[in-house]
Amino acid sequence: TDSDTADEAVRATCDDASTCKRFATSKGYWTDLHVQYFVRQIGERKAPEINRGYYGRVRGMNLLIDAFLKKTQCDCQVVNLGAGLDTTFWRLKDENIMPKKFFEVDFPMIVARKIHHIKTKPPLSKPLIETHSTDSLRLDGHSLDSDRYCIIGADLRDLPALEEKLKKFQINPELPTLFLSECVLVYMTAEQSSKLVNWVADTFPVAMFINYEQVNMNDRFGQIMIENLQRRQCNLAGVDVCQSLDSQKERFLSAGWESVNALDMMTVYSVLPREDVARIERLEFLDERELLQQLLQHYCICWAVKDKLSLEFHGSFD
Ligand code: SAM
Repeated sequence: TDSDTADEAVRATCDDASTCKRFATSKGYWTDLHVQYFVRQIGERKAPEINRGYYGRVRGMNLLIDAFLKKTQCDCQVVNLGAGLDTTFWRLKDENIMPKKFFEVDFPMIVARKIHHIKTKPPLSKPLIETHSTDSLRLDGHSLDSDRYCIIGADLRDLPALEEKLKKFQINPELPTLFLSECVLVYMTAEQSSKLVNWVADTFPVAMFINYEQVNMNDRFGQIMIENLQRRQCNLAGVDVCQSLDSQKERFLSAGWESVNALDMMTVYSVLPREDVARIERLEFLDERELLQQLLQHYCICWAVKDKLSLEFHGSFD
């Protein structure tokens, strides 16, 4: 059916993200020792502005993730929604800042692929085994469970099923919980993503949600970005939420989140540690700075906090 084709095209986007991250790390933009096990080939060259864009995305997300872990002293959970082939779990393990448990959710087909990589590559499986108390990991084709890390196959548009699966994998709603969605909500309708954000707010008394995605899509540049994705039959059902930073914030505010921030990536890029930005800007020559600015203006990070225990978290950009 058409909707199967659209879902299949959405699933394929996880390879794009990981391929771009693999390429940028091969150039030295940042270090990721594990992405190579999910994407074997470095692949074709990506333009410098793409690499800088990914640099801002990864650095920006990591700053907020690490601030949450610090604030909660790792006595917390992380739930990565639409995680794809993301490697954050292994980074946190290496840096010794692991949450109590790290959950990932994606379509069963993607999860099956990720589990296959983990099973067949010791640098991926070893950290799971090391942090697991019994001999055997709980594994089937569409899910993996260990003490500190689990991957769940589920459709984020089906909230009752999502809730049931998270419960089955022992999520604890009483622990401070960080939800991540990186280029995921845009593939759901405004109604579906609002319901998801509402459900998180209703279920987790102390929570933070970090969302990275497109924004300001109603200009010429945004239209071209949309056309490129649509050419691949990707259904950008949520593109109407991507109109402005205000509409990004509104999704959370109307769902009962207490404090919400949204910055476009141009702003994020400009507040990242100067020395490191100077370092990466020396890696590759960029002759059209305007192109980078345009690209960065069309993505944003939005983060929302809900905090009955007064965690007083305000992110790290202010
Ligand atoms: N977050 C990862 C990253 O940034 O590297 C992957 C991003 S990729 C662009 C989007 C991911 O969201 C894909 O892995 C896709 O399968 C997943 N996704 C989109 N809609 C979903 C849904 N309704 N249920 C589960 N996963 C979904």
